[in-house]
Amino acid sequence: MTNEELWKAVLGEMELSLSRANFTTWFKNTLIVSRDTNAVMVSVPNGFVKEWLENKFNKQILFSIRKLNPEVREVRYIIGQIKPETIKQDLSKMMLEKELEEKAPTDTDQDIDRVTHLNKKYSLDSFVVGSGNELAHAASQAILKNMGKLYNPLFLYGGVGLGKTHLVQSVGNKYALDNKDKRVLYTSAEKLTATVIEAIKNKTIEDLKNSYSHLDLLIIDDIQFIAGKEKTQEIIFTVFNELHTQNKQVVLTSDRLPKAIPALEERLTSRFEGGMIADVGLPDFETRLAILKLKCVEKNYTVNDEVLGYIATNIQKNVRELEGALNRVMAFAQIYNKLPEVKEVKNILNAYLSVPYRKTSPQFVLKAVADFFNISLPDLIKRSRKKEVVRPRQIAMYLLREEIKLSFPEIGLKLGGRDHSTVIHACEKIRKEESISEPLKQELLLIKERIYNSFEK
Ligand code: ADP
Ligand code: MG
Repeated sequence: MTNEELWKAVLGEMELSLSRANFTTWFKNTLIVSRDTNAVMVSVPNGFVKEWLENKFNKQILFSIRKLNPEVREVRYIIGQIKPETIKQDLSKMMLEKELEEKAPTDTDQDIDRVTHLNKKYSLDSFVVGSGNELAHAASQAILKNMGKLYNPLFLYGGVGLGKTHLVQSVGNKYALDNKDKRVLYTSAEKLTATVIEAIKNKTIEDLKNSYSHLDLLIIDDIQFIAGKEKTQEIIFTVFNELHTQNKQVVLTSDRLPKAIPALEERLTSRFEGGMIADVGLPDFETRLAILKLKCVEKNYTVNDEVLGYIATNIQKNVRELEGALNRVMAFAQIYNKLPEVKEVKNILNAYLSVPYRKTSPQFVLKAVADFFNISLPDLIKRSRKKEVVRPRQIAMYLLREEIKLSFPEIGLKLGGRDHSTVIHACEKIRKEESISEPLKQELLLIKERIYNSFEK
C-alpha cells in the first residue's frame, strides 16, 4: 500500500465521522510524506492544523492507520511548505468555518422533536425482531395497545448496543403519532438528572414535578444512571406514583436489572420491578443478517450476501458494532470504487472482530493497560496513590469486568486488594464516560487491540 492509498483510507474514515466543513478544515492539504515501520509523518499546512490534529484527532488517525498497518506506533505532524499568503487566507477561512460549525446544529438535532424529545429516525418498522429481543418487542407492542393498564412500568434491560433505545423511542413515536392529543416525553436518566439540578437551582422543582405528572407516556432511558442521585430518585418516585395511579404509562431501560443498580433506593427498586421486566439479549445469526440487510436497504448499499454473512458471523455482541462494521466496509468500497469482497472485509474488520473471552487473561489486560499508559505494572496494581495511575487503574478494572467478566471482588483482589465498592464505582464511571466520550471509546478500542493481539503473537 502506498502512502497515498493509506492516507486516502484514513481520510475516508475521518470524513465519515466529521461534518463536511470540519473535515475540510482539518484535512485539506494534508498528506503522508514519509513512513517507516513505527511512525508515519503527515504534512499539514500550518501550526493551527498541526495542533488540532495532534490534540483532537491523533488517536482516531492512529487507530485508522493501525487497522491497515498494525506495527505503526505513532503519527508525527510536520508543517509543510505553503506560500504565506495562502496560509493567511486559509486561516481566516478556517476560523470562519469553525465558527459556523460550532453554531450549526448537528444532523441528529434536526431529527429530535422539540416537545417529546423523541428522535424521529427510530421506528418499529426498522426494528428487526429475533429471538434475543422477541419478548421486549412483544411487550412494547402490548403496551401500545393498552397504555398504562397492562404492564406498568415496562422495564427493558440488556447490554449496550442491543436496541433498547431504538425500541423505546419507536414506542414513543408510534404512540405520539397515533395520539396527537397525548403528552409524551423521552429523556435519559442523565439528562433528567441535569434537569433536576437546574430546577433546584432555579427553584422550579415543583413545576418540573407537575409537568412530568401530566404526561401520558414517560420514557426514561438508561435509568441505571440515577444510581446515587438522591434528588433525582426522589423526583422519579413522586412522578412515578402520580403517573401510576392515573394509569399513565412509564417505560424504562437499563443495562441491568433493577436489583443490580447500585445505590438505588429500595422503594424505587420495588416500583421498577412492579410491572413487566423484559430482557433484550444478543441477536442470533439470522437476526444479525436481517439487520445488516435492512441497513443496506435504508442506506442504499450494495453488498453481496457472502460479505454480509461474514460480518454477521464475526460481529456478534453488539448491533451498533454490526452497523459500524458495515459502514466501515462501505467507506472502503466508496474510496476504492468497488464492491467489497470477503478477503478485504477481513482486513477492514480486524479491529472490530469479537474475540472469545478465553483468548485472554487478566494478566494480559493489566499488561496492555500498563503498556498503553506507559506506566509500570507494579504501579498499576499496587496501592500507589500517584495521580497518573488512578485513571489507568479504573480503566483496567472496567476492562477486567467487561472483557474477562471477573466479579467485582475478584477485580479488587487483582488490583492490590481494593474494596469491591471502589471497583463498582470505577466501572460505572468508565462505562458512563465511554458512552459519551469519543476519545475514551477510541482509547478502549486501542487497548483491546493490544490485549487480543498480544495473545496471537
Ligand atoms: P441500546 O440502547 O440497547 O444501547 P440502541 O437502541 O442504541 O442500543 O441500538 C444501537 C444501534 O443498533 C442503533 O442504531 C439501532 O438502530 C440498531 N439496532 C439495534 N437493534 C436493532 C434491531 N433489532 N433492528 C434494527 N436495528 C437495530
Ligand atoms: Mg441506549
